[in-house]
Amino acid sequence: MAGVIRRLDEAVVNRIAAGEVIQRPANAIKEMIENCLDAKSTSIQVVVKEGGLKLIQVQDNGCGIRKEDLDIVCERFTTSKLQKFEDLASISTYGFRGEALASISHVAHVTVTTKTADAKCAYRAIYSDGKIKAPPKPCAGNQGTQITVEDLFYNVNTRRKALKNPNEEYAKILEVVSRYAIHNSGISFSVKKQGDTMSDVRTLSNASTVDNIRSIFGNAVSRELIEVGCEDANLAFKMKGYITNANYSVKKCIFLLFINHRLVESAALRKAIETVYAAYLPKSTHPFLYLSLEIAPQNVDVNVHPTKHEVHFLHEDSILDRVQQHVESKLLGSNSSRMYFTQTLLPGADCSSSEVVKSAANPSAVTKGTSDKVYAHQMVRTDSREQKLDAFLQPVNNPLSTGPAEATTEVNAGPPEGVVRPQDAEMEDVSDLVEVADVQEDIVMPGEQSESGRLSPETVPTRKRPREDAEIEMEKDDARKDMTAACTPRRRIINLTSVLTLQEEISNQAHANLQEMLHDHSFVGCVNPQWALAQYQTKLYLLNTTKLSQELFYQILIYDFANFGVLRLSEPAPLYDLSMLALEDPESGWTEEDGPKEGLAEYIVEFLKKKTEMLKDYFSLEIDENEDTDSGSTTWKWTVEHVLYKAFRTHLLPPKHFTEDGNILQLANLPDLYKVFERC
Ligand code: ADP
Ligand code: MG
Repeated sequence: MAGVIRRLDEAVVNRIAAGEVIQRPANAIKEMIENCLDAKSTSIQVVVKEGGLKLIQVQDNGCGIRKEDLDIVCERFTTSKLQKFEDLASISTYGFRGEALASISHVAHVTVTTKTADAKCAYRAIYSDGKIKAPPKPCAGNQGTQITVEDLFYNVNTRRKALKNPNEEYAKILEVVSRYAIHNSGISFSVKKQGDTMSDVRTLSNASTVDNIRSIFGNAVSRELIEVGCEDANLAFKMKGYITNANYSVKKCIFLLFINHRLVESAALRKAIETVYAAYLPKSTHPFLYLSLEIAPQNVDVNVHPTKHEVHFLHEDSILDRVQQHVESKLLGSNSSRMYFTQTLLPGADCSSSEVVKSAANPSAVTKGTSDKVYAHQMVRTDSREQKLDAFLQPVNNPLSTGPAEATTEVNAGPPEGVVRPQDAEMEDVSDLVEVADVQEDIVMPGEQSESGRLSPETVPTRKRPREDAEIEMEKDDARKDMTAACTPRRRIINLTSVLTLQEEISNQAHANLQEMLHDHSFVGCVNPQWALAQYQTKLYLLNTTKLSQELFYQILIYDFANFGVLRLSEPAPLYDLSMLALEDPESGWTEEDGPKEGLAEYIVEFLKKKTEMLKDYFSLEIDENEDTDSGSTTWKWTVEHVLYKAFRTHLLPPKHFTEDGNILQLANLPDLYKVFERC
């Protein structure tokens, strides 16, 4: 049966339309804030109750509403901002269609209290369904407007039921207000719950955009910001804003987009920019972006959606391209320092341990860009042999120098049997050493830099010659096979829960970013036995060799548990001396109450002897009955560089705490130094 067509009651029509404009409290607040901004306010205060569902109060200090306009201010299509349709093309205010207040008054109880500059007093009026309920009443009040919205959706049951979580609504409100606050520096904003003394968002009128980002999103974001800005007269647009550099990443993209000062969303632009970041940020992490686009009003269609949330504009693709290019160039150009110092200086430490910095110094990233070239300050020294600390510390008789004479003892500090002494070694022999000491093929034996010029820079084949590498690799492989056959026929599978748990602990603690730094570092030099300098990309780091090696050996013990090959020391390690050394270390926790160290050391020696069998089984440690006490001369610089730091590259999973406890410190960053020099 065909239904009867009837004209809907006007109030019902308005209520339906209102529901489209005002979908939740945050929409109402956005409209009201836009009205405050249109009224040239410099202070906007929002108070809400129950996520805005019970009460929204927005107070401003703008131009106010004239008493004679109060009668119709809440009627549909009454506005002070637009007169002819053509004006839409050049609209510079947020509002233009006089729909917001009308809509709100159809789904809530609205009270307007307002005073213009010339009025002698303020006036208050109450509205329902777009109509003023009684003539405006004079009252006390400062210049500006206060609009109170009570019981939102009191007459729209379904909507009220759908919005039953006040906390969620409040979060949306904070989001909207804080975004407008960032976009409108120079105007102070505050939001709080009714009855609270403290505001949840509060910005000051003298604060800058970055100050506002800091106060709302925190230091972690604000200190990694890059200012962006570009314009194109042909496309008739301007863009400016702040974006985070590659040091910062979050799980969810924070994108504040304003087009012609209106908070909007643009999936296309978001995607275009996220594509750029994908090359710089760890997988499934995202940047913070605040962009403000100004597009010639005649090219923008703001009227595509009731909430004005979506906008369309002419030349959209070309504009997106331009913005994308600009963001990419800025990201490449930024090479801000990354600090491994304290928790507060390392934003990523808490939110993701897998942050990876890919700065402009990353050559692959640089070459990827079309028009970008590598500037001197972005270039990275990759040949660690070229200029190390030694070069500056090597006057002929300097006892610290790694001269040829000293090299012998250094290289041979406790070498495994069968090592070719470097002064006898031709280039090919290096491979033997490489295997035994597990040193990377790019080492240069101190002895080879002798004045004989046998391996002077001109005659030394560059390290990365493929043929030579291949040879060394082959020999290494052969040697490895031999050793494998002799010592560890096959790897034992360890299923001991205790060991597996410890392994898991290590890998959970690992800091990907540090790992990458250690893996790709160029060794600069030893400062002293405890500290060394290393370079990574354009940054110089000071590393605590002692702590790093402690961690390394611990990890080797855990990961290679029961799988150690045998290295027979020509001079056995003296158990008693080692025990004494361990007891001297404050970390041993020795106190006088424990009795004399000597006695303890003797006890330890005896104890270890009793465990000979187990130590041999799990750690391939062989303990003799008679110990020798002379450990010989241990020189350390060569070992530090070619054994320890080499091992750090591949064998160490650096734990997060190294970023916080000062064991790895960033000392300098080349681009920053350039900036300093540029100023000189
Ligand atoms: P629009 O903003 O599209 O004009 P609104 O319904 O949002 O429509 O507002 C209707 C009118 O009420 C505005 O044109 C403006 O004149 C007045 N008005 C609303 N809020 C304020 C305010 N906070 N200060 C001054 N005038 C306001
Ligand atoms: Mg408006």
